[in-house]
Amino acid sequence: MPLGRFAPSPTGLLHLGNLRTALASWLSARAVGGGWIVRMEDVDGPRCRRELGEAQLRDLDALGLVSDVPVVWQSDRGSAYREALAALQAGDLLYPCLCTRKDLQTLASAPHAEDGLRPYPGRCRERDWEGFDRALRLRLPEGPVAWEDRLLGPQMDDPGALTGDPLLFRRDGCFAYHLAVAVDDGAKGVTEVVRGADLRPVTATHIRLQEALGLPRPAYAHLGLVAAPEGGRLGKRAGALGLEALAERGVSAEAVLGWLGWSLGCLERPEPCRAEDLAPRFDWRRVPPGEVRVPAAWA
Ligand code: GLU
Repeated sequence: MPLGRFAPSPTGLLHLGNLRTALASWLSARAVGGGWIVRMEDVDGPRCRRELGEAQLRDLDALGLVSDVPVVWQSDRGSAYREALAALQAGDLLYPCLCTRKDLQTLASAPHAEDGLRPYPGRCRERDWEGFDRALRLRLPEGPVAWEDRLLGPQMDDPGALTGDPLLFRRDGCFAYHLAVAVDDGAKGVTEVVRGADLRPVTATHIRLQEALGLPRPAYAHLGLVAAPEGGRLGKRAGALGLEALAERGVSAEAVLGWLGWSLGCLERPEPCRAEDLAPRFDWRRVPPGEVRVPAAWA
């Protein structure tokens, strides 16, 4: 059965961009009778707060987007991540990285033009294994990865040039995003990943990690970002574009859904509606691939 997911990081309230991703992932799955789950990506220690995750779940509820199964919190999943690391180590795919943050800044080549990624140049690659109390990186195989994006079409990326060998475990004991995302999508049988275009450059790395862990590859769709009314990044204004902030200015959850549904090609006009009204009208072929601009009255 198709299974979609929404995987926010509880580091702030959900803004229109996050809500659009949530709705698109829900619609994509529901339109074909599939399941949908929510996962809280709270591996990044101090930046993540439980109460922000709870507030995000309330906002999703208000839109009618409810996980089919109890929400998974990645902070509870340490043993699954540790097992995955052990499997990678057994295949000689991990190495300890002793680079400090400062080393990484000096070592890294210019950030990858559009997205500010700095690929790890592999300085510690030849280090001998030292145990699970060090920062750990995956030894990426060489070469590009071809993959298909449901919105953007065929893609070909060299993960070595985008992320370089990804960090999977941090010196401070936290599991890294790349590991958690691959392990959890695999463990739950997620068949489709819908997320923001800002994560497109790490997809080839995730595919390599799935291959290393023997996990199936889900279908991918990377949505254009929600932009300022004049185009370009919303920046600080995103903070005023959460459900609660909009409600204070008289914009109802149904009006937000109508705008989101219209921006995803389900409605001819942004008019108030419910999520389940949109599901039968969702079709990836009608979703515009580029950025969408928030209404000037809201920003
Ligand atoms: N937790 C990530 C974020 O909020 C999304 C991860 C994903 O969808 O793969 O940006």
